[in-house]
Amino acid sequence: MLTLIEKILFFVLAVGSLYLAWRSFRQAARVIQRGDGRLYMDELPRRIWRALEVTVTQRTVFRARPWSSLMHGFVVWGFLFYFLANTGDVLEGYFDIAFLGTGIIGDVYRLAGDVLSVLIIIGMIYFMVRRFVVRDPALKYHENVKLHPRIPGDIQRDSLIVGAFILVHVGTRFLGETFWVALHGDDTWQPFASAVSGLWGGLDHDALEVGEHVLWWLALGTILAFIPYFPYSKHAHLFMGPLNYFSRPDRRSLGALDPLDFEDEAREQFGAAKLEHLSKTQIFDAFACIMCNRCQDACPAYVTGKELSPSTLEINKRLEIKAHMGALAAGTESPSPLLDFAITPSAVWACTGCGACIEICPVGNEPMFDIMDIRRDLVLTQGDFPSELQGAFRGMENAGNPWQVGESRMKWAEGLDVPTVEDTDNFEVLYWVGCAGSFEPRAQKIARALVRVLNAAGVKFAVLGDAESCTGDTARRAGNEYLFYEMAKANIETLNEVHPPRILVTCPHCLHTIGKEYPQFGGNYDVVHHTTFLNELIQAGRLKLVGEGRTNVTFHDPCYLGRHNGEYDAPRYALGAAGAAVTEMERTRNSSFCCGAGGAQFWKEEEHGTARVNLTRYAEAKATGAETLATGCPFCMRMFADARQDESMNGGPEVKDVVEIIAERLGLEV
Ligand code: SF4
Ligand code: SF4
Repeated sequence: MLTLIEKILFFVLAVGSLYLAWRSFRQAARVIQRGDGRLYMDELPRRIWRALEVTVTQRTVFRARPWSSLMHGFVVWGFLFYFLANTGDVLEGYFDIAFLGTGIIGDVYRLAGDVLSVLIIIGMIYFMVRRFVVRDPALKYHENVKLHPRIPGDIQRDSLIVGAFILVHVGTRFLGETFWVALHGDDTWQPFASAVSGLWGGLDHDALEVGEHVLWWLALGTILAFIPYFPYSKHAHLFMGPLNYFSRPDRRSLGALDPLDFEDEAREQFGAAKLEHLSKTQIFDAFACIMCNRCQDACPAYVTGKELSPSTLEINKRLEIKAHMGALAAGTESPSPLLDFAITPSAVWACTGCGACIEICPVGNEPMFDIMDIRRDLVLTQGDFPSELQGAFRGMENAGNPWQVGESRMKWAEGLDVPTVEDTDNFEVLYWVGCAGSFEPRAQKIARALVRVLNAAGVKFAVLGDAESCTGDTARRAGNEYLFYEMAKANIETLNEVHPPRILVTCPHCLHTIGKEYPQFGGNYDVVHHTTFLNELIQAGRLKLVGEGRTNVTFHDPCYLGRHNGEYDAPRYALGAAGAAVTEMERTRNSSFCCGAGGAQFWKEEEHGTARVNLTRYAEAKATGAETLATGCPFCMRMFADARQDESMNGGPEVKDVVEIIAERLGLEV
């Protein structure tokens, strides 16, 4: 127990430390408040539960790097316990009590403290060795990636401070317990402390009491010293990570972008040129970032040597905020544009919109949204974007398709019985053909195969024909939100007139845009991807698959079918029903690797890097030894068909859409 003087001193220091911490947190909160939009606080119980569940289970951390995740789990679980332990230590310092008593609850409490202290120390030593001794390449960045001038100095210093704080705090508390055991005799509920306490056998009672006392001060003093620095350190993710999960928007899908309000005449800025133009949740991301680089590992642009690293985007934001915290909190305009310190223009245009960075991030960060907002600024405010996109924009605006084709959207259906909504109002699904299905030769084959399969299953369907127009997906992903807005409004008007019972699509981008983004503008429809629908037909016995089919198949999960819309099983079930044994690629399902077409990449030259995204993914498919690469997206199809013909590839699996494999199995013309 502390002396009266010590009690007063600790109280004064604690108040001072908490005051400084409160000021730091208030500054951080003010910086976050500078952002656009709002933090979400509705449905509090559900949000609190989500934040707690993610923190306690660490399930988002365990998505990758199992060893590092386990070590991180040790530290997190230990620190969750330490909130209780520190409270207990303070109470024991002030009152002559045994916190939680000397019964079974107190015993379990001491056991947990003993074991978790050792696990935290093991975990922290692992992370310190990994960063400072082994210098794990996963913690580094390609040379062409934009780094804030404070990198690597700040990251190294911060990691050292955080590591030292944890080791000193936990280490001294653990040692304090060893002195307690030496004073009171072996404690079977503290096996590790008991084992170490033997070291103090030569010390007399007074020396042990002094040692325990000094270690109490060191353990709790490090907290008082660290708390004011806490919001500036990466250790802040201990709070900011759960709070990020707590306050993040509930999107209809992982990558559903927020609309811009073009009716707001007072609005001068569209998209993000500066930090304060980002949304609050995007600024929050910078504070929550754990600097683990997992998003970077998953990013197809980074992996293929482009200038884009989603993790440095977050870290650069964080370091810029740290450099100007006071001024930003006071409402001063940030000194530099995002393109000066956070990311290069080439990196902005390298993003495929695949969502892998969002899916993998353990603290719920969404770097892709920052990139899309920067694109919006470049396109809508600055008119500065890759010139190749101009053609796609013009095509969407004038011809209703990015291919800039002026002919009828029904040419693909010549020779087939394809009714339009003008011909019939008796249909169970409206087939939304999409621009690719309408105009791109390889995708037209997919559309034709689907029609034959629908007829074989006796499905009543219709198409919009020339009333159909591009969904605007490419415009939205490329930052041209105004064009997207116009196209979405027109399509919704058309669809609302038709009032389709269900919309069937062969393109995951149409699936996502119509199903997950049109509701923002009043278009609410039941949209189904053809692989899901085919599976339903098979399950319902409407499609009877007979005869021989392809057996040795691998399946590529299109980003906008899988990660963005959560459909992983239906295509696999459908392939299985068609007799195919699916050999999975290493990166599969929610960790699938993009084909390279998304995020409007299809309409522009690939940014400079060390490899092409489509060749990288196709090589992964080839490595499985499969004879067929199945997919469910006309854009993936085009990218892989091109990859297969690339000289460097020297052949490889034939690329087929799932519906083509089903059609073959039905003996239909493909
Ligand atoms: S969306 Fe995909 S390409 Fe874009 S930053 Fe994230 S991981 Fe990289
Ligand atoms: S954004 Fe997420 S995944 Fe990327 S470095 Fe930060 S915490 Fe890690």
